[in-house]
Amino acid sequence: MNGEPGDIITHQHGLHQGDPLSPMLFIIVMDVLNSLFMKAGEVGLLRPLSARATNHRISLYADDVALFTKPVENELHVTKLILDHFGEASGLWTNLQKSCVIPIQCDQQVQQLVEDSLECPTKGFPCTYLGMPISHKKLRKADLLAWVEKVADKLPGWKASLLNLAGRAALVRFVLSAIPIYILFAMNVPKWFIKAIDKIRRSFLWKGRREANGGCCLVAWEKVQRPLDLGGLGILNLEIASWALQMKWLWLQKTTSDRPWSGLEIPTHPHARAMFAISIVTQVGNGRDTLFWTDKWLHGSALPDIAPEVFMHVPKRLTNVRIVEQALTDRTWVRDIQGGLSIYGLIEYLILWDLIEEFILTNEVDRHCWKHDNSGIFSSKSAYKLFFNGSITFEPWRHLWKSWAPPKCKMFLWLAIRNKCWTADQIAKRGLDHPVSCVLCDQEEETVQHILVGCVFAREFWYILFQAVHFQQLAPRSNEKDFASWW
Ligand SMILES: [Zn+2]
Repeated sequence: MNGEPGDIITHQHGLHQGDPLSPMLFIIVMDVLNSLFMKAGEVGLLRPLSARATNHRISLYADDVALFTKPVENELHVTKLILDHFGEASGLWTNLQKSCVIPIQCDQQVQQLVEDSLECPTKGFPCTYLGMPISHKKLRKADLLAWVEKVADKLPGWKASLLNLAGRAALVRFVLSAIPIYILFAMNVPKWFIKAIDKIRRSFLWKGRREANGGCCLVAWEKVQRPLDLGGLGILNLEIASWALQMKWLWLQKTTSDRPWSGLEIPTHPHARAMFAISIVTQVGNGRDTLFWTDKWLHGSALPDIAPEVFMHVPKRLTNVRIVEQALTDRTWVRDIQGGLSIYGLIEYLILWDLIEEFILTNEVDRHCWKHDNSGIFSSKSAYKLFFNGSITFEPWRHLWKSWAPPKCKMFLWLAIRNKCWTADQIAKRGLDHPVSCVLCDQEEETVQHILVGCVFAREFWYILFQAVHFQQLAPRSNEKDFASWW
């Protein structure tokens, strides 16, 4: 306990499967395994894996354990001994037949050595860890296709024909869109992957099947994927969602630098990086946690914005590592600038000089703030919304989606407001047979707006309806052309 060996614990009760205590017990026990490997590293039995980046040699989650070791005979021997001792003490024996060795950049001879000493089968990449395909190279299409199939498997089959559009929309929003979230969060997926999943989601939304042709889709998929207040159905746009989720990694990297992976380069989409860079403002305290050349720290601006030419003369290897504290000590930042500056560069340099001279470091720690949330803390949700900034608001959204009407009525109104109902004008657009004028009044062309508010019969209907509650003056007038604005 607390680093000291204590008395022997004799356990008197077994645990049932699913007991809430068992994950905690598991952690207590598995922590010992981790400590054993750390200790072996400390006393020099196992050499460090690499100079920089991660010094973790074991990753534990539920019943998946990944162990990293050097393919050297005595280290393999030590690893096996540790596992054996751990098994003896805890009763958790490693089943070597069920485990596998995955060599990373090993030649044939080394592979043979590993196989002989650990006595477990060798496999290649990609392997599956926590349900995620992992590889040291780019994943092949076939590896990711399994995930597309996972989404397709969730289609409800014959039951789909019993669902209306509103029901299918709910299924797409909450079930089909939720499955890929996990993989989108963990890796930068290629575009075809998102397209393949979109195809399934789109076809299911409009037709209830896995495959459907474009003609069945009443509203463009781009528009369907917008949030409700921007005129969509609130179905997640997976591409944008993947950027928003990736920004979480950048945020964690910035704010909690003690994570085991924080030294690694995280594959993120350029859009995610760019959006992240403009959304973080840093309040510099002691300057130890802020990058001098790239973070937004000087009066809310980043140096490339204040002095773009000066920034161009700083080598990239320095911009990525120079922190504010170092840069301000003995004016190191001046020495980072290499090569001759033009006259504009010199002006920028002088402005920068003045700004930096009046900057004083304090004893507090640096704080990074996410601009788009009052708490200053990043959330993927606010990041997702950010990508829709500047879009036109869909005015009737509150009346429409916040009403108490049944979902299928709301869905009809959504289509009506968007002019996407199968009325004569829409049928005509597709070159099909259609009635020339409104079948009710035979006076005007049939559009959905006409049927809902323009037609004399519709106006009569609304009048009678409102009369019942003495609001008849609210009924649509003869000059009313647009349902949404009247409503
Ligand atoms: Zn009419």
